Amino acid sequence: MVTIDLSGKHALVMGVANHRSLSWAIAQQLHHAGARVCLTYANERLKPMVEELAGHLHGSLVLECDVTQDRTIHAVARRLTRDWGSLEVLVHGIAYANKEDLEGKFVATSREGFQLALEVSAYSFLNVTHHMLPLLEQNGASLLTLSYLAAERAVPNYNVMGSAKAVLEQSVRQLAWELGARGIRVNAVSAGPVSTLAARGIHGFLSMQRHHAEKAPLRRNITKEEVGKAALFLLSDLASGITGEILYVDAGYHVMGV
Ligand code: NAP
Repeated sequence: MVTIDLSGKHALVMGVANHRSLSWAIAQQLHHAGARVCLTYANERLKPMVEELAGHLHGSLVLECDVTQDRTIHAVARRLTRDWGSLEVLVHGIAYANKEDLEGKFVATSREGFQLALEVSAYSFLNVTHHMLPLLEQNGASLLTLSYLAAERAVPNYNVMGSAKAVLEQSVRQLAWELGARGIRVNAVSAGPVSTLAARGIHGFLSMQRHHAEKAPLRRNITKEEVGKAALFLLSDLASGITGEILYVDAGYHVMGV
């Protein structure tokens, strides 16, 4: 029988805001598979919520990490080097854009808004990976980020976040090539709409979700648990031959033409 056993492995999971977060669903799956998990939170405001969630994952660590501040990324790398000595799994579930950039005209995106969205939602994947590289196990480490169909299609109101996701997906392929030489795999899950804090920031999110449920081959929306299970597969040895891949967990929505 094929089982997923991550005991003895260490997983850094970034981007948990609350129990609805896709990163939380992934962290739970990793924990159930036996991995030791470190959750990071973006700022003090989120600390109590993330600490409470971490209480459900025996033996987990909770650290602050705002990806716009290199010093906090350094601090996470230092702490994991001290406490764990190696990292086999890295999950990047982080995205941000100014609210006005997710409802106004895309053509009017400000320079600052564009830079911010791309820095937090795409560059951070590269930058965090770079900081963790000395810790990442050769021949076996696995990295995962979270994307959305707007990386490659026009989606109303997704605006600059679509630009960020396009860069993120290109980064997955480029990193897969570069880190593949060290046996490190890099993949993304492209998730259908799930009601989370970040998703609710997109103007018209609820009607987008209704549309997906009507049009998707499975005639429903996906759950965050389904994202968690697909992520666990990609992060495990069951996917040892897969890298540079964007795996759609969207009830099949992306295959439709009409
Ligand atoms: P979420 O729970 O709101 O998670 C987004 C996380 O990013 C939050 O923890 C947020 O913290 C964090 N973040 C923002 N700025 C940060 C910074 N400077 N440093 C560190 N962390 C920062 O929403 P989610 O839907 O699970 O999002 C996770 C990922 O899935 C995102 O990349 C998103 O684009 C992607 N995704 C989501 C959907 C969906 O429908 N939900 C679909 C496809 C892809 P704050 O709360 O403090 O901002």
